[in-house]
Amino acid sequence: MYRKEDLSGIKSARAVAFALLFAALAAAAALHGIFADMNFAAIVCIVCAAALIAGIPLFRRIVKDEAALVEANTAAMRNASYFLYRYEAAVKQIKDGVVILTEDGSFVLINETAKTILGITDADLRTARYDEVVSGFSEKMQREEILAAAKGGVKEDSVSYAGAIYRIRFAPLGEGEEDLGVVVVISDVTESYKAEDMQTDFVANVSHELKTPLTTVKSYSQTLLEGGLDDPAMTREFLEIIDSEADRMDRLVRDLLLMTRIDNSRQKWDMTENDLAALVKTAMKKMDMTAKAKALSLNRMFEEDFSVMAEMDRDRLEQVVLNILSNAIKYTDEKGRIDVDLIPGENCVQIVISDNGVGIPEKAQARVFERFFIVDKARSRKMGGTGLGLAISKQIVEEHGGAIVLESKYGKGTKVTITLPACKVRGKRGIL
Ligand code: ADP
Repeated sequence: MYRKEDLSGIKSARAVAFALLFAALAAAAALHGIFADMNFAAIVCIVCAAALIAGIPLFRRIVKDEAALVEANTAAMRNASYFLYRYEAAVKQIKDGVVILTEDGSFVLINETAKTILGITDADLRTARYDEVVSGFSEKMQREEILAAAKGGVKEDSVSYAGAIYRIRFAPLGEGEEDLGVVVVISDVTESYKAEDMQTDFVANVSHELKTPLTTVKSYSQTLLEGGLDDPAMTREFLEIIDSEADRMDRLVRDLLLMTRIDNSRQKWDMTENDLAALVKTAMKKMDMTAKAKALSLNRMFEEDFSVMAEMDRDRLEQVVLNILSNAIKYTDEKGRIDVDLIPGENCVQIVISDNGVGIPEKAQARVFERFFIVDKARSRKMGGTGLGLAISKQIVEEHGGAIVLESKYGKGTKVTITLPACKVRGKRGIL
């Protein structure tokens, strides 16, 4: 770009050159008076020649300075277009939509994200007026609206469009009285809105899940304190209820703490190579009494001596198998059947737990891994369910590099399949 001092230097050099020429002419006129007998033209020639000789360094400087100025300007233009190119490339990369408009509604710039959000094609940009192309998106994006909104600083608004939520920010282009147009930045905030909603739901669910057992504990203990203690049978019954509700709260708090630790990557995983078959057999043994109490047949479908090694945090994985087994027991009516199988695959192993219980309606199946999701609230609460078991199981299995899938037929039964990476078989032990 021109620098003021460059220009003023050249201007003053030019002024001196002209002054020199005028001085030469004046001198010629004066000398004509002195040397009256000399031809005026000859005097002008001599004086101008003298002035030119005296002014040569000055004229040289003018030419040199002008060349330097042209060169500087060319470099400045090159820099400016490079800058513009880089700036346009940067705007294109921005995840948010960016629109720059002049005051009369012409586009200075619109990036690809903005085109996608607003549903504008390049043909629209060539043919349609600004207000027409944004009319489908929101009234809030109309030219008059955004120019008015941007007056006096940065303004913000939100728009719901095609199932998404957008935050739009307007800022004036130019400062003070100088109104050059407006910059509009459109950001998709659907995910953060959802996360906020989920957080609010989560807090509401936790409070509700804790409030229910707390209310029970409070009312039963109050009844006992107000005279119920005189009846030993009632005392025992009420204390059992209080004890089971305390267990429920304890489970809930533990589950919540584990979930938060996994969410924040603060859970320490004690990964070691273990026999998955042994783990499943232990879990089945632990649930045997509960299954027997409902006269359920709990069947091991794999061989007693079957063994398959997997890298695992043994306690956490046992928690998963216990969760699934306990669900199968909870949601299967008396005298029902639960089968537990282990199926080795290529580089993986599957634990399959099936029951012929109540099953899950098709619509609800997709949501069973959500936190606090319970199909039949009354039934689940009676069984001590919190709606967190499957959500935590999924988190644990995924941390092991595996997957968990639930299939169900309402009124017929449910099958849960856990797939885990298996360790390579190094050989079979026990020659004798
Ligand atoms: P809960 O603690 O309530 O059992 P889960 O997260 O373990 O929570 O399960 C979520 C919901 O999925 C349960 O409330 C129940 O309605 C349904 N469910 C899970 N396993 C089974 C099953 N084997 N049979 C029928 N319904 C099941």
